[in-house]
Amino acid sequence: MELADLAEELSGIVGARFVRTERAELATFASDGLPTLRRTPALVVLPGSAAEVSRVLAALHRRRVPFVARGAGTGLSGGALGEAPAALVTLTRLGRILELDPDNRRAVVEPGVVNASLSRAAAPFGLMYAPDPSSQTACTIGGNVAENAGGPHCLKYGVTTNHVLELEVALPAARPGGPISSAPSSAARACSASRRRSRCAWCRCRPRCARCWPTTRACGSRAKP
Ligand SMILES: Cc1cc2nc3c(=O)[nH]c(=O)nc-3n(C[C@H](O)[C@H](O)[C@H](O)COP(=O)(O)OP(=O)(O)OC[C@H]3O[C@@H](n4cnc5c(N)ncnc54)[C@H](O)[C@@H]3O)c2cc1C
Repeated sequence: MELADLAEELSGIVGARFVRTERAELATFASDGLPTLRRTPALVVLPGSAAEVSRVLAALHRRRVPFVARGAGTGLSGGALGEAPAALVTLTRLGRILELDPDNRRAVVEPGVVNASLSRAAAPFGLMYAPDPSSQTACTIGGNVAENAGGPHCLKYGVTTNHVLELEVALPAARPGGPISSAPSSAARACSASRRRSRCAWCRCRPRCARCWPTTRACGSRAKP
């Protein structure tokens, strides 16, 4: 792989400041929540929109460069690590809640939305996003979907796969994305297909628990209802 050529092409898509190739910059991405494993990628690219994700994946695919998606990097399985010559596609810039529909208890989010911020946004409507890994103030919905993350609320309400209604996925061969299914199990199916990267998720919200949201902050606290 010609790294300089690839970096230049990707810079043309996402902007030069969102392509990292320097050793010191890459060190940040060489580990995730699993401290015993380190793998330094050849390059890190941070797309800022769904369209950029598609173009980045198409470029990597055309050049036959292996790649790995990364959310917040809190995973405990080393899943967000890519060793050179792999590229790391980091989705944290896609952090927008695109739609919040309290009547249908549904939210449309980009994959880089931080888990707890969805419940925070839904709280004024008396709703919450139930899957609550203890890392919820850092981890992203994209990472939650890939890992089928859960937490204490999941004992009652189910895990991530029970709360994702549809996924829009980007394919490396740049075929159009689009919701793949309205079945609740679609998250698991989409994520088990390797080399697909989720660009957008339709999430189910639930009525907020009386006493315990967010789990990590307010459980047992009288300050917040
Ligand atoms: C202190 C701590 C507490 C934790 N507590 C829990 C817990 O209670 N319950 C629990 O289930 N987990 C827990 N975890 C593990 C971790 O937070 C979860 O697995 C979380 O879902 C990872 O999200 P992330 O955004 O950090 O993903 P990352 O670590 O960045 O990535 C995880 C996996 O998802 C893939 N991925 C990320 N984004 C996308 C995307 N957009 N499209 C496709 N694939 C993608 C990556 O390739 C990788 O395989 C904890 C971790 C820590 C450090």
